[in-house]
Amino acid sequence: MKRKISIIGSTGSIGTQALEVIEKLGDELEVYGLAAGSNTELLNKQIKKFNPKKVYAFKNTENVDFNRVLTGEDGLKELASDRENDIVLMAVSGRHGLKPTLAAINNGIDIALANKETLVMAGEIVMQEAKKHNVKILPVDSEHSAIHQCIKNIADVSKLIITASGGPFLNKSSYDMAHSDIKQVLNHPRWKMGKKITVDSATLMNKGLEVIEAHHLFGIDYDDIEVVIHPQSVVHSAVEYKDGSVIAQLGLPSMHIPIQYAITYPERLVGIKSKSFSFSDIARLDFSKPDFGKFPCLRLALKAGRTGGSAPVVMNAANEEAVYAFLGGVIGYNDIYPAVEKIYNKFDIQELNSIDEIFELDNEVRLKTKELLTGAVKV
Ligand code: NDP
Ligand code: MG
Repeated sequence: MKRKISIIGSTGSIGTQALEVIEKLGDELEVYGLAAGSNTELLNKQIKKFNPKKVYAFKNTENVDFNRVLTGEDGLKELASDRENDIVLMAVSGRHGLKPTLAAINNGIDIALANKETLVMAGEIVMQEAKKHNVKILPVDSEHSAIHQCIKNIADVSKLIITASGGPFLNKSSYDMAHSDIKQVLNHPRWKMGKKITVDSATLMNKGLEVIEAHHLFGIDYDDIEVVIHPQSVVHSAVEYKDGSVIAQLGLPSMHIPIQYAITYPERLVGIKSKSFSFSDIARLDFSKPDFGKFPCLRLALKAGRTGGSAPVVMNAANEEAVYAFLGGVIGYNDIYPAVEKIYNKFDIQELNSIDEIFELDNEVRLKTKELLTGAVKV
């Protein structure tokens, strides 16, 4: 029988690449549901091609060619938690992934998780619920997919090594960074991704979010997670075992591999095969320590992760709003970090024991960040 999958964020970078994989694996996978934000033109094309049983749109529902289009928070939960789903690919960006992920987990549906903000905001709750409902959380993020592929028995692992390409500013001066426009920030040397994650990849906030994601996914202490700059993006991440042995996962940069691995796990089906790998073609691989002075967002994210409680929630919400303000032309690249830091320091650390408490704080932080940024071009 075909495995039924719903894709939350089907019109985005991960969503469209997932559909390319599914198209090639049509004998094994069937699209059950599609959920988009506002790109109804592309959503309509996807509906025609994949004939889903359920469709969701956040905006412009009247433009969607489908008889009963779901919308609103409950609509997204309804699609994600439908028990017909064998697996849900959570490929929405930002905080929209958290509630539908929990709804799906609650109904025992496995999750292929691209949306890292879900674990940054509520990693403890999400992982506890997944355990309780015997649900697999399969990472789509290439680094976490690599680690998942390298781990046999987590009890034998002493360290996770997460690689980072370093983004477009790795070899740029602070002056160049301060004077870069949106186009330069969005010009990632290795990966073509959605805008929010691409900005996070320039500030290295993305790597900080990934460390927090890895901490929750694999239950490893922050002290035992190392970030390494590796500009070629060929070693996708590695695991050090207690005996000193290091196992890494390598491949040419392509999100098709981790998407495919997650949605067909535990099999390893091949819909899209990357170009064959050759060490001699690559010739050289470089590694170095991250420069926390040049990339303070990474330092702040690691601090927030270690602090725990409300800290990652505040840091994540402030960052998301600062990134949107940058993308909207309200602030410059160099204003992102000061804004996030300022907001981070405004909020006392507290324990958060429920999703409602998390969202309440998340809303408050966003409001404060917007207040700080609107009208204030210089933070
Ligand atoms: P994109 O911005 O390209 O796509 C986001 C998707 O979410 C779009 O389909 C968008 O719809 C949809 N969306 C936005 N708001 C809503 C909403 N309220 N309800 C339903 N759908 C909504 O992002 P990416 O694909 O790049 O990233 C998605 C997630 O995966 C992020 O959390 C990112 O960090 C993570 N990730 C991405 C990687 C990549 O290579 N792109 C790699 C690793 C992780 P529409 O366009 O129709 O408005
Ligand atoms: Mg990644």
